[in-house]
Amino acid sequence: MNTDEKLYDVCIVGAGFSGLVLAIKLARAGLLVCLVDLNRVVGRKILSTGNGRCNFTNSRMNSEYFYSNGSLDFITDNHEEIRAFFRELGVFDKDLDGYYYPVTNQAKTIREALENEIDSLSIDVYLDNRVTDIASTDTFKVTTTRNIINSKKVVIASGGLSAATLGSSKIGYKMATKFGMKVTKLAPSLVGATSNEICLKDLAGVRAYGKVNYRGHECEGEIQFNKDGVSGYPVMCVSRFIGFDELNKNLSDISIDFIPYLSKEELQEELKKRFATKGERSVLASLVGLCNEKAIDVVVSYARIYGDTAVKKLDEEDIENLTHYFKNFPIRITGTKGFDHSQVTAGGVDLNDIDLSSMESKKQKGLYFIGEVLDVDGICGGYNLSFAYTSATIAANHIKGE
Ligand SMILES: Cc1cc2nc3c(=O)[nH]c(=O)nc-3n(C[C@H](O)[C@H](O)[C@H](O)COP(=O)(O)OP(=O)(O)OC[C@H]3O[C@@H](n4cnc5c(N)ncnc54)[C@H](O)[C@@H]3O)c2cc1C
Repeated sequence: MNTDEKLYDVCIVGAGFSGLVLAIKLARAGLLVCLVDLNRVVGRKILSTGNGRCNFTNSRMNSEYFYSNGSLDFITDNHEEIRAFFRELGVFDKDLDGYYYPVTNQAKTIREALENEIDSLSIDVYLDNRVTDIASTDTFKVTTTRNIINSKKVVIASGGLSAATLGSSKIGYKMATKFGMKVTKLAPSLVGATSNEICLKDLAGVRAYGKVNYRGHECEGEIQFNKDGVSGYPVMCVSRFIGFDELNKNLSDISIDFIPYLSKEELQEELKKRFATKGERSVLASLVGLCNEKAIDVVVSYARIYGDTAVKKLDEEDIENLTHYFKNFPIRITGTKGFDHSQVTAGGVDLNDIDLSSMESKKQKGLYFIGEVLDVDGICGGYNLSFAYTSATIAANHIKGE
């Protein structure tokens, strides 16, 4: 093990999105900074973001798109600042209905732009170094699997437990606990749900538009059905609640509205209208166009109607049953697909133990926490990277003395 004789102003644990942004901001101000990461490359996870396109911010950036047990008032709309930061690094972006991506459509553009700036600022980067401990005397000693690094301040930017193959560890939570801070319960978020429902045999491979409801938390979009569960944007949006319920062994069903563009009453009227004309038509033929064809098949079978029945034979109760299952199709779930498949970790270092004007620990002077390691998780749409940027900026401004 080497002991680096250098005394850094700031040692950043984790060269992910938040750590890289922070390192750039501090080094530009003339501070002696180092980054430490267990991966062999900086910003490894960035490459996988936004399906390889990196949705790095959102024009709706606002505290209402985030969850935490603490106060989120410090999150404000800074998407123009984030765009300007990347523009300065040479990255042009494109606005897809408020969702911002690099114009190249390649996440590697964002990673490389950050890496190039790190290189040009001559920031020391300790790669393939897993941090195992942090000790505080007059200064901090950061122990890694290969080095001991001395620093006046330490910022923990080690992320959550999600997507372990891209680089994750419990170090942030362990160090928070070591320094007397609380860590709230952790659950996978932005992840698919698992299910053994028989109907998934018929629905596997289907992508159907609909609204997902989990205990009153609703989200609309394309739902993906697999033989072992459901995923897609609306499921991911409600998944943090499923994650915590799984932890508490208190799971509920997901309910799907396959026809969210009609109210229950409007759908009933529509069905009556369709069934009143062309009475010889089969049920399946007369429902064409309402929603995904495979979804129609399963709804009809849940309503205990044979698809080839002539519609003139249907009665009021059949119409009620069809309406019910189109609007409230139940999927019994068994949990989430877990941290490895999740994009974000819900829960983390308790915000009540952090000074939110600086991101410094209230329990240990000179120790800061930024990014996903904190008890903040956003919905899909560029919010989590925006939060990583936001918290890095708050810490940078404080450390620089602004
Ligand atoms: C597949 C996928 C797609 C995503 N898409 C988007 C998207 O499009 N938009 C969006 O806003 N968010 C997206 N996210 C979420 C987003 O990537 C994270 O919220 C964000 O990267 C968090 O930044 P961070 O700096 O806090 O942590 P990370 O980016 O996870 O960085 C943490 C770093 O710390 C390192 N580390 C961990 N432990 C140690 C240790 N003991 N020693 C040394 N180093 C350590 C890790 O190797 C890692 O490099 C996605 C996530 C995933 C997994």
